[in-house]
Amino acid sequence: METKNNAMTWLFEILFPRYAWRIKTSDKKIYLTFDDGPIPEVTEWVLDELKKYNAKATFFVIGENIKRNSEIFQKVLTEGHHVGNHTQNHIRGWSKDTDTYLANFQECQKSILELKPSSTNLFRPPYGQIRRLQANEILKTHKVLMWSVLTRDYDVDLNAQQCLNNAIDRTEPGSIVLFHDSLKAQKNLYYVLPRFLEHFSKKGYEFCTIEL
Ligand SMILES: [Zn+2]
Repeated sequence: METKNNAMTWLFEILFPRYAWRIKTSDKKIYLTFDDGPIPEVTEWVLDELKKYNAKATFFVIGENIKRNSEIFQKVLTEGHHVGNHTQNHIRGWSKDTDTYLANFQECQKSILELKPSSTNLFRPPYGQIRRLQANEILKTHKVLMWSVLTRDYDVDLNAQQCLNNAIDRTEPGSIVLFHDSLKAQKNLYYVLPRFLEHFSKKGYEFCTIEL
């Protein structure tokens, strides 16, 4: 069953078919993603909430945060979640030349490899910004993973209940849902995530990692 909410996702799939925008399935599966961690407190809080529902998720990590918070990064892995590359310093693809961008991407890959033996083949560009030439290189080794549900949890002007309603309305089987384990998102995240997990658990959904 498709809804009007997915019009943007269809459009993005047509315009940018090389990137993954959702997982094609009719099973009751939701793919939660958390960007910009790991950081103390917020990431740990997310892990505890996920555990309550036996939910698994994919964390798109910033390399410099892994270095600072390697124990929290280990905890993400130990608890059965998946991780992806989100660059070393959270840089914008549109304002960087290809070499600078790729070097920062590689640096994050190295940071992950130092702590995780099998590395990752998932990449999400910060701000969803990536140039064609940057993507050409990254796609040789990685899947570029976007999203179909943007919760806007980072938007401090967005009312938390509205944020929750939007997230619930837009989510359906196969949705890739974007949250942030960041200080900026904390206010909305702490309200929305537990209620989102409860809502879809009651409806019989599973929360799965992304393996492509
Ligand atoms: Zn980000």
